[in-house]
Amino acid sequence: TTGGSQCGFCTPGFVMTMFASYYSPLVTDAQSVDPGGEVLAGNLCRCTGYRALRSVAALTSGAGLVEGSEHADRFASRLHDPVLGAVTAELGSAVVACRPSTLAEAIARRASEPGLRVIAGATDVGVEVTRGFKRYPGILSLDAITDPIFSSCSRAEGTVTIGAGVTMTALEDFLRDGGVPLAGQMLPWFASRQIRNRATVGGNLMTASPIGDMSPVWLAHDAVALIGGSSGIREVRVADFFTGYRQTAVGADELLVALRIDDRVAPPRGRRVAWVRKVARRDRVDISTVAGAFLVVLDDRGTVVSARLAYGGVAATPVRALGAEDALIGAVWRDGDGGVKDARALLGSAFAPLSDHRGSASYRQRLITGLFDACLSETGIGSDR
Ligand SMILES: Cc1cc2nc3c(=O)[nH]c(=O)nc-3n(C[C@H](O)[C@H](O)[C@H](O)COP(=O)(O)OP(=O)(O)OC[C@H]3O[C@@H](n4cnc5c(N)ncnc54)[C@H](O)[C@@H]3O)c2cc1C
Repeated sequence: TTGGSQCGFCTPGFVMTMFASYYSPLVTDAQSVDPGGEVLAGNLCRCTGYRALRSVAALTSGAGLVEGSEHADRFASRLHDPVLGAVTAELGSAVVACRPSTLAEAIARRASEPGLRVIAGATDVGVEVTRGFKRYPGILSLDAITDPIFSSCSRAEGTVTIGAGVTMTALEDFLRDGGVPLAGQMLPWFASRQIRNRATVGGNLMTASPIGDMSPVWLAHDAVALIGGSSGIREVRVADFFTGYRQTAVGADELLVALRIDDRVAPPRGRRVAWVRKVARRDRVDISTVAGAFLVVLDDRGTVVSARLAYGGVAATPVRALGAEDALIGAVWRDGDGGVKDARALLGSAFAPLSDHRGSASYRQRLITGLFDACLSETGIGSDR
């Protein structure tokens, strides 16, 4: 009755998206502002009939979950409690597909079957296959692992642990009650709901993409990566995790297991400024040109106690602006303060970004300082926002 279909070309895709959102309990901030828009961010309509489509999505989202209603049906439980069993498939004597249900077996397989391509959500590896025409001798899938440290999130005494196998949607859900503020702010801008339902925290970090959205977030939160191998778990700060362009500290016989974040807030009467911005050519379903994630802790007088300014899209790896961070210590967090001016000047020459189809080097350079300015004007002492 809302006329949510015109030529019909895109309708099957929209129907599948709405089918999932019909059973979804998620109501994010973005959804409450624009419910239909958030749900449909991953679909395109050539007729641009979005207004009607958004109305349908807003009407139907979550409707299938009304307890005891006529809508509650067998799909709801199947969608939200998928049962993935362990699988091992062989061709001759070679293992071509392996989906273990424990972390220990996955790590053992990693060592014994080095030719298997590891996949978690496969949103990145899938593109390697369909667009890059890559072929692998076999796959080692991590999506049936049930060890809580790998597959869930937990919070204890100010420390948050996020399993590498946790999907972006599950992380959004976990953070709905607060904590790890930069992640909560970035997630609505990460791809689309369809991708967030599959993409994992570990897969994102392991791509080591200079424009991966969550890497600046983890850098600014000074997260620690827990890496599992045959001799147990070792720890590497995310600050030391990226060893080169698309390279990480995780060895060929290891797996990323989890991230640990010290999420204690601020000194008494102080304040924690947490600010994220992703600049892309489209506001949804696009990769960043530049992203900034800033975590600045202020004391009760507004003086900077600690600062972490992390960027994506400005170097071969996601990176922190260490010189500018140092300059901020002791500065009063407002435009015009000497330390703040020094930090801004240092940001002007901190990185040597490249030009590509997403933006020129000089545009990126302006974004590096522009994001800092925007953060300061929105959060600085005396700002009214
Ligand atoms: C349409 C589309 C939109 C996208 N939009 C965004 C976006 O907005 N922002 C963004 O940052 N990314 C985006 N991506 C990229 C991708 O979705 C993310 O990087 C995602 O988080 C990858 O996670 P995954 O679980 O799917 O990884 P996979 O594809 O399964 O794996 C990625 C890599 O990580 C390795 N790996 C996975 N898990 C582990 C582990 N636990 N230990 C060791 N190695 C592991 C794999 O071997 C592989 O090398 C997009 C992709 C698509 C297709």
